[in-house]
Amino acid sequence: MKKMDNKCVFCQIAKKAMPAKIEYEDEEIIAFWDINPSAPVHLLIIPKEHIASINDARPENQQLLGKMLLVAKRLAKQKKIEQNGYRLVINTGPWAGQIIHHLHLHLLGGNPSESHPKKRTADKIDRTNKEF
Ligand code: 5GP
Ligand code: ZN
Repeated sequence: MKKMDNKCVFCQIAKKAMPAKIEYEDEEIIAFWDINPSAPVHLLIIPKEHIASINDARPENQQLLGKMLLVAKRLAKQKKIEQNGYRLVINTGPWAGQIIHHLHLHLLGGNPSESHPKKRTADKIDRTNKEF
């Protein structure tokens, strides 16, 4: 039996007790869209087992952690962002802004000018500067 936490939102998603837009699933891992995306592609790759953060990962999780990265690579390819670039982020602890205490790997990518108001402003400033 995998370790689960009944109060944990991502455990609930992993056991389909809560809905999510799932993009990938196997016996150990599930990947789904972030509910509040910060990029055109914003997926979360999580172990089905409840591991609170990377601080709680154990040597026996080595294969699982490696697989999470390979799943991220595969999803980046599937979403056609593997060439232009993407970020893989694991927030750990309060200073890093970890709000969900179930290990998750953020896959962030896509054309930033499509969805980032800040980036759009930066682009505008860039163009303005070039005109002078
Ligand atoms: P953290 O800051 O902990 O690294 O990121 C947690 C992420 O989980 C946030 O980007 C947040 O939008 C996302 N999130 C929180 N609750 C839910 C949920 O119920 N469903 C989905 N799909 N994403 C969630
Ligand atoms: Zn959990």
